[in-house]
Amino acid sequence: MDTKIELTNLSKEELNTEITKIGEKSFRAKQLWQWIYYRGETDFNRMSNLSLNLRKTLSEKYKITRPKIITEQISIDKTHKWLLEFEDGERVEMVYIPEKDRGAVCISTQVGCAMGCRFCHTGSQKFTRNLTTSEIVGQFMVARDAYQEWPSPTDEVRYLSNIVVMGMGEPLNNLENVVKALNIITDSEGISISRRRITMSTSGIAPRIVEALQRTGVRLAVSLHAPNNTIRSRIMPINDKFKIEELLKACAEYQQGDHSRYITFEYLLLKGINDSIENAQELIHLMKKYKLRALFNLIPFNPWPGCSFETSERKTVEAFSQELEKAGFAAPIRVARGQDILAACGQLKSKMPKG
Ligand code: SAH
Ligand code: SF4
Repeated sequence: MDTKIELTNLSKEELNTEITKIGEKSFRAKQLWQWIYYRGETDFNRMSNLSLNLRKTLSEKYKITRPKIITEQISIDKTHKWLLEFEDGERVEMVYIPEKDRGAVCISTQVGCAMGCRFCHTGSQKFTRNLTTSEIVGQFMVARDAYQEWPSPTDEVRYLSNIVVMGMGEPLNNLENVVKALNIITDSEGISISRRRITMSTSGIAPRIVEALQRTGVRLAVSLHAPNNTIRSRIMPINDKFKIEELLKACAEYQQGDHSRYITFEYLLLKGINDSIENAQELIHLMKKYKLRALFNLIPFNPWPGCSFETSERKTVEAFSQELEKAGFAAPIRVARGQDILAACGQLKSKMPKG
């Protein structure tokens, strides 16, 4: 059995402790950190400022693993999707969405998802397990390898400039590993992605919202998708546990005292279910009631095989957007990317149906 310790599972402090344990000075841990996260090196033998002896010890005791690429697809709009496999054979999908002079990597936090949102392809696949810190950080490193963005660029002009924690899984149900991974990814001596450029999306685990944001400092997106509990419970089972009131109270608490904190509310439009003008007005009322500084991201439903929901008409989506904008909320309509390769929101799935 492979008993080597995976270094990308360790926080900066833990790496330091580990390296001092084998009798090395702290600055060696710092050099090692830079090799792994600033240069993207995976082979101890190429770490040229470490002594040959140390390189040998490191290779005997430790490893730096990347998730294995099983397949890769690039869509006609250049959206890039990878199917990645971890050491135990479990798989997730990751997507890179390029823009003109930047781009976002959409990373996963769980294999499958336990929340079971009715409109989501991932939710139709049973929850298998949480991803480890190493597996979360490793996804981003795979994307960096692909776009050869090592060593970490020192300016903000990058192919991989942003991260959205919006792939498979509910990040707040894997909070410890997600916090650790985001702290590694944002460390200025390593991968160095600014916290402002990371957005984490939750389906609404209300009691963990404030803590999650305090511990990561990233931006918050909430998958609201409905203006009242009746509709929300119908499409998102999590709403039976944490009702809209509790969710929005947590959002308001997060915004308290800091006026720069805007929340993005994702709103998926499902034909005939939540897309009427009355629904938009109800939504505006909610935002005012809880005094939220909000912007909306309207998502036309992306269909997937076997799902019975339908996409709202374009003119319905536009009217919904206009209603929100009239009330002073930004409400852009998200352009689906990578639909031809099932890489768009809610289309990710890493397992074929059984039987
Ligand atoms: N689990 C987290 C983050 C991942 S999902 C969450 O639910 O917030 C990213 C976004 O895509 C969420 O807002 C989700 O509700 C949305 N989504 C899910 N299925 C979709 C579909 N079929 N079409 C469009 N968006 C979808
Ligand atoms: Fe899970 Fe998010 Fe899909 Fe809901 S929308 S099933 S929370 S991945």
